Amino acid sequence: MLFKDLKLSDNLLKAIEEQGYSQPTLVQNQTIPLVLAKKDVIASAQTGTGKTAAFALPIIQLLESNTVKTPRPVAIKALIVSPTRELALQIGNNFKAYARHTNLRTAIIFGGISEKPQIDILTKGVDILIATPGRLIDLEKQGLLSLSDINILVLDEADLMLDMGFIDDVQHIAKLCPTNRQTLLFSATMPHKVVQLANTVLKNPERVAI
Ligand code: AMP
Repeated sequence: MLFKDLKLSDNLLKAIEEQGYSQPTLVQNQTIPLVLAKKDVIASAQTGTGKTAAFALPIIQLLESNTVKTPRPVAIKALIVSPTRELALQIGNNFKAYARHTNLRTAIIFGGISEKPQIDILTKGVDILIATPGRLIDLEKQGLLSLSDINILVLDEADLMLDMGFIDDVQHIAKLCPTNRQTLLFSATMPHKVVQLANTVLKNPERVAI
């Protein structure tokens, strides 16, 4: 299988080539068609398998084909929730690289630093937001961002997120998103509590296990 067989746009194929990826990984082969078909997905995949591109590439493609050129959309369309600042930065930098030939705007927000620069970026308009749970909820409570137009919600490293005590935050974030959204959940392991979370946030999910 090649990336072009996955029906990705020329803008994405160009960025993928610039990244030096020659062919999709297993999790990418299995996940990309499901996301493009707007299915909910629960995937067990470890870091290092290429799982970030498995959700980032089709999300960019779905948003790109929906983007109205003028006026620019002001609402956040995709939200990726990540347990740590380091992971959020990694995911955000991957999105930025993959979306570089599109006009989609990506932002990364996390706690432990001043809110001001993050608020300034949000005010200008963001299509894809990568966030840690605490800072996301803080800014939402202050009315500085809205999740009411989210098309796609991704919960990444769900097992780690629950181990870190973010269950209530994750449930709260999911409730702030529209019920007719698409939801993707990625986890390295699938303990009972992750399956329970999946049962409350996903609808008829397709399963990917690699
Ligand atoms: P991840 O599992 O998302 O943390 O990705 C692990 C690493 O694999 C990252 O450095 C990616 O840039 C890289 N990667 C992702 N997809 C591919 C691919 N299809 N071919 C080669 N490297 C890739």
